[in-house]
Amino acid sequence: MTPAYRIAIVGAGLGGLTVAGLLQRAGCSVTVYEQAPAFSRIGAGIILSANVVKALRPLGVEERLLRAGIQADSFVSRAWDTGEVLYEIRFDKAAEAHFGAPYLNIHRGDLHDILQLAVSPNSIRLGHSLARLNEGSASINLVFENGEMEDADIVIGSDGIRSKVREHLLGFEVPRFVGRVAQRAIFPTAHLKGFEMRDCTKWWAPDRHALTYFLTSNRDEVYVIGTVPAAGWESDSTWLPSSRDELVASFTAFHPDLRRVVEATTDVTVWPIYDRERNDIWSGRRTVLLGDACHPVRPYMAAGGAMAIEDAVILSRCLTEFDDPSRAFAAYEATRIPRVAEVQRISFENSWMHGPTDPDWFFCYDACTAPLQVPSLNQPP
Ligand SMILES: Cc1cc2nc3c(=O)[nH]c(=O)nc-3n(C[C@H](O)[C@H](O)[C@H](O)COP(=O)(O)OP(=O)(O)OC[C@H]3O[C@@H](n4cnc5c(N)ncnc54)[C@H](O)[C@@H]3O)c2cc1C
Repeated sequence: MTPAYRIAIVGAGLGGLTVAGLLQRAGCSVTVYEQAPAFSRIGAGIILSANVVKALRPLGVEERLLRAGIQADSFVSRAWDTGEVLYEIRFDKAAEAHFGAPYLNIHRGDLHDILQLAVSPNSIRLGHSLARLNEGSASINLVFENGEMEDADIVIGSDGIRSKVREHLLGFEVPRFVGRVAQRAIFPTAHLKGFEMRDCTKWWAPDRHALTYFLTSNRDEVYVIGTVPAAGWESDSTWLPSSRDELVASFTAFHPDLRRVVEATTDVTVWPIYDRERNDIWSGRRTVLLGDACHPVRPYMAAGGAMAIEDAVILSRCLTEFDDPSRAFAAYEATRIPRVAEVQRISFENSWMHGPTDPDWFFCYDACTAPLQVPSLNQPP
């Protein structure tokens, strides 16, 4: 695509920062608009499986990721009551060679900081909340809540689950509350008082689950997330303060190995879980969506951020490979939709690595080298 195109990216989250860094490296003119007045370190962990670590390699951030996060030695699934091991995958040197990269767990704030360093600082405009888009024949106009306006040739909507760019493209539709909330906590490992926790364990019960993992390579910080049924979510906030007692009460009947971990928490927050029905329209004439703006998934496969980052890689490849944006968008959709649809399906049923699993299709995938699917010119869009 001609470098003269002005590309506006709305939302400096995981997907937005990744696509910005990649397009800048390809010589494109990119500006990122983020609603937040400043970035904050939200208390949560995130899993970066080998496919994500590979996707981020062109940004040159792997060393930093390895320093900030932990290469988990395994992922273990256990039954909530008996503690029986239902599935275990080892992430040793052989697995790393097979999948093409390590499996990392990291603090989400650290990941965000690292991605931000890969983007030219002058190109990020904080405090710019998109209000609406006006599409003309020659350009697209972005109108922000602060009264400012900017013109662009292409708008990438990486503005998360309540995306304004999505609203412009598909109309307003509230996200679907899935009837569950996530209780999350981070605490120092010293609180475990000598209890030896495995690197990464998911505990499965019929109506709820919990996931525990270390966040740092010296194993001094622990992350816990439990998802439990909830009748509704009345607040406009994306999270609310909760308590250790509420978290402990949610998992009181679980195996002692999990109870030791939840009882060691101090500060707990609670997050509603939303998703949307699958939608296969990801772009218009001058707008294109990625990540949660496009296909928010339930967090049970720990793959929402992974999909946003892979989207960013494929979209940047398509935009640099094709002169015509509509061809680029068509190739992007054709390449991404089948893989994302499978992740949506598995996330919906919460079955990933519950029992014996062949993870190769997910972990071995490399968005930097995967063939682009190019619809033929005669094919209807
Ligand atoms: C409880 C929970 C646990 C999770 N765990 C994992 C995990 O372990 N692994 C994983 O891969 N994924 C996980 N996810 C999912 C993951 O967090 C998301 O899928 C991912 O952050 C999506 O990235 P994104 O770039 O599309 O959107 P986001 O990271 O949400 O970024 C959107 C950005 O857009 C900005 N924005 C929004 N509206 C506007 C506007 N109008 N104007 C300007 N800016 C705007 C926001 O401020 C934000 O910075 C989890 C999600 C939840 C809820």
